[in-house]
Amino acid sequence: MPDPPDRRGRLVVISGPAGSGKTTLVRRLIQRPDLRLVVSISATTRSPRPGEVHGRDYYFYSRDEFEAIRGDLLESAEVHGNHYGTPSAPVRRAIEQGTCVALVIDVQGGFQVREKFPDALLVFIQIPGLDVLEERLRARGTDSPETIEMRLGNARRELELAARYDCQVVNEDLDRTVEQLAAILNRNGCGA
Ligand code: 5GP
Repeated sequence: MPDPPDRRGRLVVISGPAGSGKTTLVRRLIQRPDLRLVVSISATTRSPRPGEVHGRDYYFYSRDEFEAIRGDLLESAEVHGNHYGTPSAPVRRAIEQGTCVALVIDVQGGFQVREKFPDALLVFIQIPGLDVLEERLRARGTDSPETIEMRLGNARRELELAARYDCQVVNEDLDRTVEQLAAILNRNGCGA
């Protein structure tokens, strides 16, 4: 049996409006050699977008399949009419091994995580302004106008809750934001 690590990993919740770049940021962070960080893959009942892969981007489940695994989720929430949740087992395993785990989840999920893991670090990715968000969503071109309106409404509510997170980072420049987040994670026990 290998020796247990001398420290436990920490949960790092990353939330932010659609279009804030949180997924891209986390993809960059998990590749950094100066961090000991993995990303959790969520379960969802949402349909895959073009290019998304089951087991890499999400575990895509039917409603029935999702209900069947609900008991194994660390947190869950309904977002934009779909169910999302974080499978517990991989997260707990990584933490035991001393690895930090990034959870890219919404604010409802973030507060559930804080309840269960009081030492979780909650980071909110801010956008420079809602007009910029709207532009980014339209430029992405994957959502209908109605969906974009719904997402903008949710983004406004989410910004109010962001004030309760441990820290907020405005993502204006991707490279700079990656460096800022890496520094925060290094200071908070996720260094390699
Ligand atoms: P999308 O459908 O655009 O990938 O994600 C929609 C929202 O659901 C985003 O705010 C995303 O962070 C959130 N989300 C994704 N996975 C989870 C999860 O496992 N739990 C919770 N609570 N929210 C999630």
